[in-house]
This record gives sequence, C-alpha cells and structure tokens, in this order.
Amino acid sequence: MKKVSFFQSIHLKFVLVYILLILIAMQIIGVYFSRQLEIQFKENFQNSISDRVNLLSYSIEEAMLKERDDDDPTLEKDVYDILRGYSSEDILEVQVININQRIIGTSKAENQNIVGQRTTNAQVKRSLVVGIAENDIFRDDTGRRVWIVANPIEAKGEILGTIYLMADIESVFNQLQEINDVFANGTIIALTISVVLGILLAQAISRPISDMRRQALAMAKGNFSRKVKVYGLDEIGQLALTFNNLTKRLQEAQASTEGERRKLASVLAYMTDGVIATDRRGRIILINESAIGLLNVSRETALSQQITTLLGIEDKYTFEDLINEQESVILDYSTTHKPYILRANFSVIQKDTGLVNGLIAVLHDITEQEKIEMERREFVANVSHELRTPLTSMRSYLEALSDGAWKDEEIAPRFLEVTQTETERMIRLVNDLLQLSKMDSKDYRFSKEIVDFTIFFNRIIDRFDIIKEQHVTFTRELPSKAVFVEIDEDKMTQVLDNVISNALKYSPEGGNITFRLEEESDQIKISVSDQGVGIPKDQVNKIFDRFYRVDKARSRKLGGTGLGLAIAKEMVEAHGGKIWAESKDEVGTTIFITLPYERTDEDDWA
Ligand code: ADP
Repeated sequence: MKKVSFFQSIHLKFVLVYILLILIAMQIIGVYFSRQLEIQFKENFQNSISDRVNLLSYSIEEAMLKERDDDDPTLEKDVYDILRGYSSEDILEVQVININQRIIGTSKAENQNIVGQRTTNAQVKRSLVVGIAENDIFRDDTGRRVWIVANPIEAKGEILGTIYLMADIESVFNQLQEINDVFANGTIIALTISVVLGILLAQAISRPISDMRRQALAMAKGNFSRKVKVYGLDEIGQLALTFNNLTKRLQEAQASTEGERRKLASVLAYMTDGVIATDRRGRIILINESAIGLLNVSRETALSQQITTLLGIEDKYTFEDLINEQESVILDYSTTHKPYILRANFSVIQKDTGLVNGLIAVLHDITEQEKIEMERREFVANVSHELRTPLTSMRSYLEALSDGAWKDEEIAPRFLEVTQTETERMIRLVNDLLQLSKMDSKDYRFSKEIVDFTIFFNRIIDRFDIIKEQHVTFTRELPSKAVFVEIDEDKMTQVLDNVISNALKYSPEGGNITFRLEEESDQIKISVSDQGVGIPKDQVNKIFDRFYRVDKARSRKLGGTGLGLAIAKEMVEAHGGKIWAESKDEVGTTIFITLPYERTDEDDWA
C-alpha cells in the first residue's frame, strides 16, 4: 500500500482547518472591533473639537455684538486676538466668516492675507444659508486627512456668521492603524501557534491511526504479533483497543483455520483413497498423493487439466454429467497384461445458495476386488462345466443301456465301465474341490513332523516305479545322506504324487524322468523333469491356476481334473515353500519345489 502524501495527510487538513478558523474569527472580530474603535475615536475627537468651537463661537458672538466707538479696535482686530491663541496641534486653522461671506479673521499667521476676502468654501456658504453646522473629512493637498467644520454663529435666532475649522484628524487614523497593526501581529502569532497546535493535535490523532494502518498491513502479511499503542481512553484509544482485540480474535481464527487446514491436508495426504477437487468449471484445484499415484500423473499436469480429461472419460462424460452422477463410475485402465480398475465417487460442493462451487472425486483401487470377483465367477462356471461334462456323458450311456443295450453282453459291460470311470472322476473332482475349499477356509490344520526327505522321496518314487504302466525309466539324483525337513507327510505325498503322475501322464513311451533333491543354504530344492510334450511358454505359470489345462480334451481323457497343481501350490505355500515350472515345447517339463530347511549336523540325529 502506498504512503499517504503530505497533501492528502490529516496533518495538512488539521492545520488548514485551524488557520481558516482563526482567520475567519480574527476577520470577524477585527472588522467589528476596528469599526467600533474608529467610530469611538472619531466621536471623541470631534466632541473635544466641538466643545472648543462652541466656546470660540461664544467669544466671537460677543465680539460681533459689541457696540463699537471710533477708538475701539475693529471687529477684525478682536477676532484676530481671539483666534491667535486658538492654534493648537490638532486644530490647523480657524476662520471666522461674517454673514456676507467675508472672512473676518483666521488663526493661521501666514494666511492673514485672506482676511477681508469672500470665502469660496461651499460648506461655509451652506451653513450661513441653512444655519446648521456642517462637517466632513477630507484629504488636504498633502494627502493628510482633515476634519472640516462650519459652525454657524447665532444670536437671538439670527445668523451672524460662521466659524470654519480645519482639524488634523490624521492622528486618530494613525492610532487606529497602530491598533490594527497590533491586531494583525496578534493574528499572525495566533496563526503560528495554531499551526503548531494543529500539527501536534493531528499527530496525536494520526499516530494511532498510522499504527493501526501499519498493523493492518502486517496482519495482511500474516503477522499478528504487533500491537497498536493505546495513548488514551478517548474514542481513538477505544478504537485502538478494539483493533487490538480484533487482531487477537483474527489470530485465533487464523490459528484454528490453519489447524483445520493442516488436519485436512494430513488426512488427504495419508488416506489410501485418491481425492481430487475441482473448481466450478471442472478444473482441478487439488489432488492428493494417492490420486497422483493411482492415476500415474505429475501434480503439475493434473492441476492444469479438466477432471474429465485427467480421468480419461471426456468421451463419455461431461463435467455436468459428473455433477449429476449419483452412482459410482468404474474407470477401467486395464491393459492386456495387467488389470487395473478404479472406482470413482463424486460429490458436489455447493454454496448456501445452491450454486455449484466444485466437485470432489474419491478414487478407490478395486482391481483386486474385481479380480477376486472375476475369479469367483470363473470358478463357479468351471465347476459347473466340469460336473456337467461327466454327467452328460453318463446320461447318454445310461439312456442307451435303458433303451435295451443292457441286453447286449458285449456293449453293456463297456458302457457300465464308462459310467463307473466318469463317476470316479466326479468323486475325485468333488474331493479336490472339498480339499481346496478346506484350504481356503483358514482353519486347515497341518500335522508337521521332522522327516528325512531323502527316504521320504525315495519311497514315493519306488511306489511309482512299481505301478507305472508305460515304459519310462526313472533317474534319481538324490543325496546319499539324510536331509531333515519339517513337513506334513500326507500333504507332501499328495503334492509329489500329483507332480510325478503328471510327468508320467505326459511322458512319451520310452522316456525318462529325473528326480533331483538339492540341499541349499536355507531351503531344499526338489525337481521332477520329464521328456514329455512340454508346455507353451506363455502358459507355464498358468498351470497352477484352478481348472487350467493346456489341452483340455487330452487332460480329461487322462482323467485329470485341472485342480491337482492348484492344490499342490496351496500346500507347498502353506509349508512356506514355492512351486514353479520350467518347460520347453516338445522337449520336456521340470517342476521345481522348494521347502524351508535348517541345515543340521548329522551327528545331532545320529
Ligand atoms: P490335470 O488334472 O489336468 O493334470 P493339473 O493341475 O495337475 O491338472 O495340471 C494342469 C495342467 O498342466 C495339465 O492339464 C497339463 O496341461 C499341464 N501339465 C502339468 N504337468 C505337465 C507335464 N509334466 N507336462 C506337460 N503338461 C503338464
């Protein structure tokens, strides 16, 4: 904020107002006062002159009315005698004029030549005619102000002449001027004092206001530590107190808002769901870390985009559609290799007036959920399919039998054998399913024991060696010493039975199966390699999935359920081990199994 210039400042305004007030007051007082003074002074002066004129008038009248002999001095002489003593400092000249307008005497010595002449003075003439005293102020030749009086001399109602008097009234005006000067000086002094006082007063008022202004500026920058100094308890002091109080309240409000903001920010930062907020036009204004991770974008790119663009749904939805969307929207970003599905829920931010202020989208990763759901559906479909196939074939054989084939001694036993095989396969399938479902429910129990795996493995191979139907040779690469491992014998037998029977199933006539047992630092590695048909590379990992079979028809013909390796995987993993396959098409397959192992000195068991 810019600084207040001197010309806009309260200082100047105060000083100007003071000066104007003083000037107006002084002017009014001055005009009235000097006017009164002038009247009074003039009156005093004129009164004093008039008194003297009256006295003179009386003496002149005496002289005029006097009965004169020849030896008596003339009237002019008497008048001259009377007037001679009349010149004073303030009376400049006194003339006596008779009724015939002739000057019969003057007090001014150098003017004696005018005695006997007719007067030219208009006032004198008028006073002689009208018989009323005339007076006025004029400026004489030197520019000096003079008061001129023409006072008629009356006796018994008859005008005898007039006295003409010229008085110096300049002194009165000089006195007035002096008083006015004193007054003007007083005004200047008063103005100077009022300027100083005005500045001081303006400062007293403006200082707390400037303080408040500075504090308001500091507050705008987030600094609430300042306090306005309170100079007194007048209105400005009260304002300063209120301002300080306001600062405190604002600070508290700010602190609580800041606290709420931090809480919200940490909730948003640490929540696993993604949160995106937009403005009322759909432009993203906030995106949390989870959303950035889920959508795999940078914050900068996200913040400049529309929400529909960011979510990649601009073809299907507009921002208005999202505002009105009640249901959640499924965002499927799956590729052929990887499923990736998000669920988005939208809620609208509205003002009190009902106007839409923005949108909040909450993203939730539902890939796992969807995968499980898909697997469940697939599983149910698989189970139904696996059960329907044997049942359909059994129904057709039984129908044929009941249609009369039972009488045929050659066909009947074959048909019955097929139904028996199918029934057994179904029983196996149901048993496998039961076993899987038991393992899925976590209360499945193992009874583990320490077993010499070399003996255990040899025994199983021996059994297969005896019962095998094809011409397949067995190669054993097993250690000669004992390898003690903690296993559930029954379960592990089931695992190996499955792996070995698969190897036999898919081995060609005259093939070879190699059994290996290797001791590693913290595990044993068992492998069964055949020289069979092998498994295509892209399907090697899938053979452990439930119902997955590379060649469905062939597997079914060989009596497989497609669950054997899935069960084996569950069991090996329940032992803390791993199972996987390596295979080359038309070359052979190796199934590897690892189990946790703690190497012990043979002596301990000897
Ligand atoms: P099945 O009961 O069909 O044998 P499994 O779960 O045991 O079910 O095996 C799943 C599928 O894995 C089989 O159908 C087969 O296609 C494939 N498979 C398993 N072992 C071998 C092997 N040794 N050689 C070739 N293919 C195999």
